[in-house]
Amino acid sequence: MADYLISGGTGYVPEDGLTAQQLFSIGDGLTYNDFLILPGFIDFTSDEVDLTSALTKKITLKTPLISSPMDTVTESSMAITMALMGGIGIIHHNCTPEIQANEVRKVKKFEQGFITDPVVMSPRHMVSDVFEAKVRHGFSGIPVTETGKMGSKLVGIVTSRDIDFLSEKDYDRPLEEAMTKREDLVVAPSGVTLKQANEILQRSKKGKLPIVNDSDELVAIIARTDLKKNREYPLASKDSRKQLLCGAAIGTREDDKYRLDLLVQAGVDVVVLDSSQGNSVLEISMINYIKQKYPELQVVGGNVVTAAQAKNLIDAGVDALRVGMGCGSICITQEGLCDTNIPDSNNSGSVMIFPKCLKTLVYFLAVMACGRPQGTSVYKVAEYARRFGVPVIADGGIQTVGHVVKALALGASTVMMGSLLAATTEAPGEYFFSDGVRLKKYRGMGSLDAMEKNSSSQKRYFSEGDKVKVAQGVSGSVQDKGSIHKFAPYLIAGIQHGCQDIGAKSLSILRSMMYSGELKFEKRTMSAQVEGGVHGLHSYEKRLY
Ligand code: IMP
Repeated sequence: MADYLISGGTGYVPEDGLTAQQLFSIGDGLTYNDFLILPGFIDFTSDEVDLTSALTKKITLKTPLISSPMDTVTESSMAITMALMGGIGIIHHNCTPEIQANEVRKVKKFEQGFITDPVVMSPRHMVSDVFEAKVRHGFSGIPVTETGKMGSKLVGIVTSRDIDFLSEKDYDRPLEEAMTKREDLVVAPSGVTLKQANEILQRSKKGKLPIVNDSDELVAIIARTDLKKNREYPLASKDSRKQLLCGAAIGTREDDKYRLDLLVQAGVDVVVLDSSQGNSVLEISMINYIKQKYPELQVVGGNVVTAAQAKNLIDAGVDALRVGMGCGSICITQEGLCDTNIPDSNNSGSVMIFPKCLKTLVYFLAVMACGRPQGTSVYKVAEYARRFGVPVIADGGIQTVGHVVKALALGASTVMMGSLLAATTEAPGEYFFSDGVRLKKYRGMGSLDAMEKNSSSQKRYFSEGDKVKVAQGVSGSVQDKGSIHKFAPYLIAGIQHGCQDIGAKSLSILRSMMYSGELKFEKRTMSAQVEGGVHGLHSYEKRLY
């Protein structure tokens, strides 16, 4: 009789499931969908699960979530919110060095409740401009300064009360005739604390409180509507000076050294060397350069998907590795040349695809047939890099919170997302409607669309100077997800629940369970994947949070 049969209360339990080592020794490349984690024992509540994890050798986050350096995902608004929620945002570099550094500065200078980049107008703007701004931005308390910019002398403010009762013939009147003038405004001096400013705002019963410096120049405003939102962010990622943490991406070319200088001056905490294939002489020499010039600056190298690639970057001194090649939702790097797609009718060589989720026209030509399924990449690189204390960022291919848990269970310390965070309120770009669905644009940084905007994107995909641009990404759209303020708590709670089911009270316990072999996995057949999805219903609504 088998020795595991239980007699009495206890006994042997048969071996069940595969260790991570066994799972990945089979040789197939596995995606997150190709396996599951077997549940463990629960003796704690899910909100006790500690998600603290290393971003780099020297930076630790309380939430292991990173927004990707893509021009439809991360600018200052996303980076601020990600940092408030305990993660971090990496500002994209598909713009001039000055603009990028300014976005970093906005994150570093962010003070909760103080709006430092509001819509500002000059006395020469028209009343109609205010109505337009109201439609676009949904508010109408607009400060008026001499030049129409922040940092210039405050001359008034224009609110709904100033313009709501004007008739259409007044729409082309200048604001200096319609606004409430400076002498009638209640303002607060710069340096005022948020608490004091809130008290002044409440006493004055006004909707907006301009903050001015000694020269009466506008430096920020506070909005009454924001007062209710001014809650605590106990997880917020901050540096030793209590400023929010911020990352930024750069390329590996000579002119990126100037960009780097500006970013460092703006206070960037971590730079991400943005290359789709990071194992290159260019990247290694950039790592050496940064480590020599700014030894304290944390440097993320990548992207890599094998231990051999990782070795070179670890030897060069990276503080973390970004892992993923060809797994991104907008990525066509891995595909064989146009095999499953339909050439367009005029035989121009381009290809058009029309899935419902990518309604915007996309077109691409050739791809690299190079990369690796993401589950395998994360496991292989993390398993190697941990020997040198180098944390791994699982980058791309995250479609659900379950994928985040799987990435972390395979040894990643943090997870980087593009599509999952695109189309949130904080992502760049305006919403638009298509077939009644509210969408925002989302595009690969290797899409022709992005590469044509600025050469930084081209450099990531190594085709700068090439006569023919080779697209490695597509351009599409993603459905509105609301604010990161709601979405990130959903992700955090989801990861905590996943860890609870596994029986891991923290991410470090999760990783050590995996490496000790205690954590068990199982491969998923196609029918197991069907069984694991919603099935057998006539119709259903999928609301996640
Ligand atoms: P997602 O979270 O699946 O949407 O993937 C986002 C990741 O895809 C980014 O963080 C990049 O690593 C990668 N990526 C961004 N643009 C492109 C592209 O044009 N081609 C291939 N990969 C891309």
